[in-house]
Amino acid sequence: MTTTERLTAPAPDRAAVRRPLLTVDDLGVQFRLRDTSVHAVTDLNLTVRAGELLAIVGESGCGKSVLAHALLGLLPGNATITGHAVLHYPDADPVDLVTCGQRHLARRVRGRRVGLVPQSPATALNPVRTGRRLLTETLRAHGRGREDCDRLAVDVGLDPADLDRYPHELSGGMAQRLVTALALAPDPSLLIADEPTTGLDRPLVDHTLDLLRRRCDDGSAVVLITHDLAAAQRVADTVAVMYASRIAEHRDAGQLFTAPTHPYAAALLDALPDRAFRPVPGDPPMLTALPPGCSFAPRCPRRTDLCASQPPPTPLTGGGTVACHHPITTGAVT
Ligand code: SF4
Repeated sequence: MTTTERLTAPAPDRAAVRRPLLTVDDLGVQFRLRDTSVHAVTDLNLTVRAGELLAIVGESGCGKSVLAHALLGLLPGNATITGHAVLHYPDADPVDLVTCGQRHLARRVRGRRVGLVPQSPATALNPVRTGRRLLTETLRAHGRGREDCDRLAVDVGLDPADLDRYPHELSGGMAQRLVTALALAPDPSLLIADEPTTGLDRPLVDHTLDLLRRRCDDGSAVVLITHDLAAAQRVADTVAVMYASRIAEHRDAGQLFTAPTHPYAAALLDALPDRAFRPVPGDPPMLTALPPGCSFAPRCPRRTDLCASQPPPTPLTGGGTVACHHPITTGAVT
């Protein structure tokens, strides 16, 4: 099976009936700099349900990783978060991750209810502990025995013997698999995986994607942050395409990959080697100087005067929406 083939059939109806694990409403993240501010996430709405694999895709710098860090309270002190991100517990009242505070995030959320596979494994690993010790300590902290160590290593495609190495003795791909194992050790109900296939060769990319897919099939949820559209196509139930801090299009994966309606989503798909292999023209805007209308307008073949002056509508929480004045429907400008 190649990466662009789906591991399972899309299951929008199955995902839609399951309970929400995370509901994000009007989330915004701004960073204060000396002379300006950066709008890294703007008016973001989405819901992640049990059993759902949501892929968040887009070019570097569009806000994907900032979103992940905002949800887990991992942003630096010059960040301001607005809006809501409600985590739903099966056995307790829901908690707003924006307002609950670091104490709750550290004790009940981070690395417990919500796991994170970080984008930079080298900086996430304690350099003076072997992989086995890191994994054993994490397992023990969550009531699991060290006998699960080797099994987790195999699950992520790591030779158990490599657990006895220190982080500096691991290749980038091995370190990536180790941080994935560490994130999975608490068996979180929601896993945020930020570029989890970085540094892996193709068979290991597919191995990791299939592992994430199986977690969702077993009832957990995964938010897969990736610039790899083929990876999203292989395993995602739903896809949110981000551009310049906003969600441009958010819908069922099968629909998005078959008939994207936002011009940016369509351009991203056209850039795939097995499609038109035509790069998206131009560059994304600076997040310090976003235009008043649609941020994609300078690169968009469908732009009109309205696009330059009025921001497009914001996709709502339920997904299946597009932030565009003239979405692609019949091929003509509407
Ligand atoms: S709002 Fe206008 S410029 Fe923006 S993506 Fe849609 S058609 Fe293009």
